[in-house]
Amino acid sequence: MAKMLRCRDVGVDCDAVIRAKTEEELMRKVAEHAKTVHGMSKIPPDMIAKVKAAIKEV
Ligand SMILES: [Zn+2]
Repeated sequence: MAKMLRCRDVGVDCDAVIRAKTEEELMRKVAEHAKTVHGMSKIPPDMIAKVKAAIKEV
């Protein structure tokens, strides 16, 4: 099983799909994506909660 997150499921108008083998790796990739694509230097706690709720097993 792997983890997958659609950026759109977090409420962002973005078609990116982020995949990783573990939740930790996914959160790292999400943080990197948020920084490079959305200009967020740090993900706010409410966004982290949304991300965790939107993670799907694939
Ligand atoms: Zn995005």
